[in-house]
Amino acid sequence: MFDLEKLVRPNILKLSPYSSARDEFVGEASTWLDANENPYGNLNRYPDPYQRELKELLSVDNDVESDQIFIGNGSDEIIDLLFRLFARPGIDKALTFSPTYGMYRVSAEINDVDLIEVPLDDKFQIDLNKTIPFLDDPSLKLIFICSPNNPTGNLLRNEEIEKILSQFSGILVVDEAYIDFADTDSWYKRLNDYPNLIVTQTFSKARGLAAARLGIAYSNSSIISLLNKLKPPYNVSSLNQEAGIESLKNPIEFNEQIEKIKSERDRLLKELGSISIVNRIYPTDANFILVEIENATEVYLKLTAKGIVVRNRSSLIPNALRISIGTKTENNLLLNELKLIKS
Ligand code: PMP
Repeated sequence: MFDLEKLVRPNILKLSPYSSARDEFVGEASTWLDANENPYGNLNRYPDPYQRELKELLSVDNDVESDQIFIGNGSDEIIDLLFRLFARPGIDKALTFSPTYGMYRVSAEINDVDLIEVPLDDKFQIDLNKTIPFLDDPSLKLIFICSPNNPTGNLLRNEEIEKILSQFSGILVVDEAYIDFADTDSWYKRLNDYPNLIVTQTFSKARGLAAARLGIAYSNSSIISLLNKLKPPYNVSSLNQEAGIESLKNPIEFNEQIEKIKSERDRLLKELGSISIVNRIYPTDANFILVEIENATEVYLKLTAKGIVVRNRSSLIPNALRISIGTKTENNLLLNELKLIKS
């Protein structure tokens, strides 16, 4: 049975959160003398600690309530906050499916939480037989599922995610950083079915705002208010909030960019298939392609020498390079160089 209070670190349940000037007075005023700000300048005021305008726009676009949305300084901040909210250092555990996004491990280690890595199967899908034995462990508090998965690129099947959601009484986080490049619904549509579900997304990928550091968590309002209790008071700057608001007000540009990236992805998939040193191209639902290539590290170094930087993922998957989809010109530069490299 899901019992939120039992999952939360006891010190966080007891915590009296910091009460900022903007918590204590909300509304319009002519003379602000409450936050020890400088009265001069354009960026002299603290930002809205709860990013209300940004959340309102997200709420309307996505048909979720504003109180089901949390904004972090990138989704990396959210991953760390989730460890700090649910997993006691030196006592609790988290679980993820490897190979996957490296920050789950880094955040686990920072928080002194044991991270169980269950290997994905040969199609990079969740192996339930290997996963289910862990689900009854009361010290397992958090499971991270990255879908589409980084670095493999594929969506993880709903069947296995549903099974885990219904059998696990801890928190399941579905990290959907790359969801806008996939033709599927977000898991946030299922929030009402699963009280233990948290879905994270980001403005860093499809919205082209990696520099603005805006991550999103969708969950039920109780979990969102716990995240609000824990976060630094002004975790998202006014500049960052404004960048997100601008982006949400310009859906045409957003959709056009996604379509361009997806069409370049299709072209790259086809063209990579005809390059002799490329041995395998993994299916992708993201804005990158994982390829298995002869002598990947050598190829990686040859590309960097030409000023083209891809990600060498050979330490996770033998001879694997992860290639982000660039502009048409950038992709052509990459393809031309790859064609010149002989096996
Ligand atoms: N999740 C995944 C799967 C990612 O690949 C990344 C970025 N590489 C993040 C989260 C972090 O994104 P953000 O820029 O929002 O911190």
